[in-house]
Amino acid sequence: MPEKDIIDVLSTDILVIGGGISGLVATVSAAEEGVSVITLEKGDSPFQYGWWYGVIGSKLHKERGINIDKNHVWALLQRAGLFRIDPRLIKMWVDNSGKVMDWLLDIIEDESGIKYDSFPIETHPEKVHNGEPPKVTIGGIEVLRYFPTAILLPSNTVVVPSLLKRIEKLKGKVLFGTAGVQLLKDGDKVVGAVAKTKDGYIKINSKAVILATGGYEGNKLMLRKYIPEADSIVHVLGKPLNTGDGILMAQWVGAAIDPWPHAPMLFDWGLYGTKVPTLENIFRQPWLAVNMFGERFYNEDNIYGYTCKAYFYQPGHFAWVIWDDKWRDEEILLRMGGTVCERTTNKYIDLTTGVFSNEPIIFHKEEWVEELINKGAIIRASTIDELASKMGVPIETLKKTINRYNELAMKGIDEDFGKDPHKLVAIDKPPYYAAKVGPALLVTLSGVRVTPELNVLSKDWKVIKGLYAVGNTCGGFFAYEYPVAVTGDSMGRAITTGYIAAKKAVEYVKSL
Ligand SMILES: Cc1cc2nc3c(=O)[nH]c(=O)nc-3n(C[C@H](O)[C@H](O)[C@H](O)COP(=O)(O)OP(=O)(O)OC[C@H]3O[C@@H](n4cnc5c(N)ncnc54)[C@H](O)[C@@H]3O)c2cc1C
Repeated sequence: MPEKDIIDVLSTDILVIGGGISGLVATVSAAEEGVSVITLEKGDSPFQYGWWYGVIGSKLHKERGINIDKNHVWALLQRAGLFRIDPRLIKMWVDNSGKVMDWLLDIIEDESGIKYDSFPIETHPEKVHNGEPPKVTIGGIEVLRYFPTAILLPSNTVVVPSLLKRIEKLKGKVLFGTAGVQLLKDGDKVVGAVAKTKDGYIKINSKAVILATGGYEGNKLMLRKYIPEADSIVHVLGKPLNTGDGILMAQWVGAAIDPWPHAPMLFDWGLYGTKVPTLENIFRQPWLAVNMFGERFYNEDNIYGYTCKAYFYQPGHFAWVIWDDKWRDEEILLRMGGTVCERTTNKYIDLTTGVFSNEPIIFHKEEWVEELINKGAIIRASTIDELASKMGVPIETLKKTINRYNELAMKGIDEDFGKDPHKLVAIDKPPYYAAKVGPALLVTLSGVRVTPELNVLSKDWKVIKGLYAVGNTCGGFFAYEYPVAVTGDSMGRAITTGYIAAKKAVEYVKSL
């Protein structure tokens, strides 16, 4: 970047690039230590996805008597990443996330006046059958347990405004509409960055830089390079501005990144026949799923990321989800729903305000289903023959599959794929419905190699001085897919890494 193109030069102790959740937390965490902080945000205004914040041992958990076994979660996350992760990094989250949540809840209470104990913890109330804890089983064997790690916080209306207020009080600066484009180095140290504004380029000199630019869900080339499912993704739901800038900037100064393949956060919201993702969740329930040949292929009672992997493994990388007119029955919806984000009945938590509520449902409305039928995204038919021909699958095979499924529902045991008998609902009440579904992408989760202190590592495993990466910009935490069993641990990772990286960066700056 030629100096003549720089229209302004700023100076600060710590530069945070990215003003999403991890970046804003890092900004407050650094500024409260008395150093100066400038934060760059590419977007023109704040916007945050994510409501479930996964942490262990917060004061809310303690007060509500929810004791999560830290070692159990630590071990599970290592296994979920098939050990292609850094156990020390995960332990850092396990050990610190509760404390960071307490800190965040205090800020929210001070700045927004909402008492910390008004927020719910995701305990999957509707998924608890017969006193059993929420879990996924195959043939009665537990393969996955949902830990009640996630506290539900309204990000855009409560969390982000509280953090911004605190930043202002601490005299931190957030520059919106300003994108970091290149890191600056002096010898072996990172000493700032060049950023692009609508008026031109600016230079920010700093003693340390924290990269918090999220993942690369908005970058098609990177998706194709690192995510095997990229070409089968029907919708991308994450921020289009997340184009992997932090990961690329780090690589340009010699950083190592996670090996291929990277971990996406896939979501079973890829409804064919829609141009944009729908909030409707009826087709995301564990009804019967068949492939393009009309054959059943897996235990449909699974979590969204793994369901997408199962779809990807099928010819054409999609599934037909089939259900019948019993979907209008609240008792059936209660039986089907309940994995995180999967509920069709939402009478327990109002996700707009984040507080307990009896108000029904934002993830499912009968009129939305009708709208999707009118658009042709959901097929309706009065006979199985008609359904099969509208779907374009072999009629006789589909009839055989449905007959067998109904037989299993009658027996109350899934001899073929081991699904929880609660979820075996016969397809026998016309009209019948089918939706063609493939993977959607929320965010990407792999990134720059870091130490447990969030220092960025070079390709020869040495710390790049003055450079830190947090949230979805850093790697080492997830591999292959997002293990939803530890609910909300993406937001949990974002706040914990943001908080810790900032404290470490302050120590570094003060040591110079
Ligand atoms: C619909 C949806 C729902 C989700 N729900 C949950 C949930 O409930 N629980 C959960 O754990 N996870 C959830 N996630 C994932 C979660 O939102 C992310 O994992 C989390 O936001 C990551 O935080 P981050 O700070 O790393 O990135 P982000 O929150 O994406 O923030 C990155 C920021 O950096 C900015 N930026 C990008 N490039 C630059 C640049 N060059 N210069 C300056 N700024 C830049 C972007 O504009 C963005 O604001 C959800 C994701 C989606 C899409």
